[in-house]
Amino acid sequence: MAKQTGSLSINSENIFPIIKKWLYSDHDIFVREVVSNACDAVTKLRKLALIGEYNEADDYKYRIDVIASPKDKTLTFIDNGIGMTADEVNEYINQIAFSGATDFLEKYKDKATDDQIIGHFGLGFYSTFMVADKVTINTLSYKEDSKPVFWECDGGTDYTMSEGDRTEHGTEITLYLNEDCYEFANEYRVKEVLEKYCSFMPEEIFFTNADAAKEEKTDVVDSNAEEVKDNADEATEEATDKENETTEPKEKPINDIHPLWTKHPNDCTEEEYKEFYRKVFLDFKEPLFWIHLNMDYPFNLKGILYFPKLNTEYDSLEGKIKLYNNQVFIADNIKEVIPEFLLLLKGVIDCPDLPLNVSRSALQNDGFVKKISDYITKKVADKLSGMCKTNRENYEKYWDDLSPFIKFGCLKDDKFEEKMKDYILYKNLDGKYLTLSEYLEAGKEKYENTVFYTDNEKTQSQYINMFREQGIDAVVLDHNIDNPFITHQEQKHEGVHFARIDSEVTNTFKEEVPEEELKETTDKLSEIFKKALGNDKLTVKVEKLKNAAISSMITLPEETRRMQDMMKIYAMGGMDPNLFGGNDSLTLVLNANNQLVQYILDNPDGDNTNMVCEQLYDLALLSHAPLEPEAMTKFVARSNEILTMLTK
Ligand code: ADP
Repeated sequence: MAKQTGSLSINSENIFPIIKKWLYSDHDIFVREVVSNACDAVTKLRKLALIGEYNEADDYKYRIDVIASPKDKTLTFIDNGIGMTADEVNEYINQIAFSGATDFLEKYKDKATDDQIIGHFGLGFYSTFMVADKVTINTLSYKEDSKPVFWECDGGTDYTMSEGDRTEHGTEITLYLNEDCYEFANEYRVKEVLEKYCSFMPEEIFFTNADAAKEEKTDVVDSNAEEVKDNADEATEEATDKENETTEPKEKPINDIHPLWTKHPNDCTEEEYKEFYRKVFLDFKEPLFWIHLNMDYPFNLKGILYFPKLNTEYDSLEGKIKLYNNQVFIADNIKEVIPEFLLLLKGVIDCPDLPLNVSRSALQNDGFVKKISDYITKKVADKLSGMCKTNRENYEKYWDDLSPFIKFGCLKDDKFEEKMKDYILYKNLDGKYLTLSEYLEAGKEKYENTVFYTDNEKTQSQYINMFREQGIDAVVLDHNIDNPFITHQEQKHEGVHFARIDSEVTNTFKEEVPEEELKETTDKLSEIFKKALGNDKLTVKVEKLKNAAISSMITLPEETRRMQDMMKIYAMGGMDPNLFGGNDSLTLVLNANNQLVQYILDNPDGDNTNMVCEQLYDLALLSHAPLEPEAMTKFVARSNEILTMLTK
């Protein structure tokens, strides 16, 4: 063929500088583009052979090779797929691919980076110019009587085409990396990128470090040359044969061409699911369970969602959902496609039908994408509610791990909440799991429509004991998500009110005494405590608690506490947490039935009265919240002092 030179048919002269600058952080994406083109080329030929359009030996090994040469600073991609004729190179590379890239850049070059095209699909072959100064294509079409074609472009707008030297059908693309991108000739870097994008591509991909392979060969030749100097050539051949013999069975593709999600759920074993999880997410804690999504109609979607185990309460709730398009990795955690709360899970989703050549904002408003997202949500809700209905024991076992996820889902997604609302469990003080209606029904007489809860079983143990003694149940809500969730539940269930167990002293705990009867005592104690604590604003309330062992308690109305908790969050942004009263909103409840309180009443001016008052106040405060450092220091010193008095 006569050498052909030409100008790529574009109007914009500066497309290459733009491509080069394109998305600095995602430079590695060219690997995906080139390797997935190679996969397509191989798959196409495989299919043609399958339907008899093309004759190929039955045991023909289709493959893709990625070869890096750190010395030459090149990266080469070879496939033995359909290849291209000169006409096809003209059409697909010089015209279509180029205009595709031009269109693409025209459309998106001005967009802010947060509106990037998902995975930048459509940039295709020309994305290689992000990293290469020169790219060559050496290709031979599978079609009979085709001639090999050599194409070369140095990153300007001119290319040359001439006859190539490829003898096997397929395409070899070589990137002469530019100085800033030499990293892509580094074995580890290439492997890393291949793993990221190509781990599950549907054709076998092999990696070779050309320099290392050459070195190995020379090593063998050298040692043989010492012994059989005259037969150096034979020795080389032998050595190469030997090498092939020993390395061939070991040669392993870098990818898994049949990832688990492509199989039918019935054909997957538990061990396979777990192994896949470990491999993909490098999480060696076993997942609790998983959902295998497998849908053909009305759209094609496959995937596996894992529910991870949260080991500690400090475990961050961060999952990872990997999105694929026909086994080609697109990106992690694309919230336009995957409902936000599902991003707490770990999983893979492969959806060949996704429109990926549109911007993220377009995806967000795409009805089809919405359907996909709804489908996933529904499947997850069905799985969870189904488990609760048919295997409540298991569901309860998993609840502590599932609960943040489900609660977050309810907060974020009405449809999910609608499906899950009857399957939200509350762990009670005995570690039993109840639904909201079960809890309310059980306590109908004692606490109508109030859900008492503790958010810290350790510090609130005094209140918990009181509740236990009086046979009143409370639930444990100790996760961060519970704060907003409680408020949300109150909105959803009219009349239902959540109250932390130290928010008030309910009637059940006290003897019924007319308020005036305690008025005098209250005034008296109030005065003594105010003086002892040096706090004029202190609110004191006297009750006759059934449990005489309790001396003092702190209560804080639920609403005020929630407000204060919120303020604490905002305090980080400079707001004053005491805006809603701080400690001034606390009520010190004193038990008139208690001996110590009686002592104070009888000895307002006693030598130790101040000390007893301070100690009772701190003790009450301790069960409510941790003491401030200064108060804690005083408390410890005072406790020591009291013990010293005992031992005198
Ligand atoms: P896209 O893959 O989105 O079509 P590309 O720019 O990546 O866009 O490629 C343009 C075209 O060039 C492909 O559609 C294909 O026809 C052809 N092509 C690219 N790489 C190969 C290859 N390795 N083997 C055969 N044809 C190829």
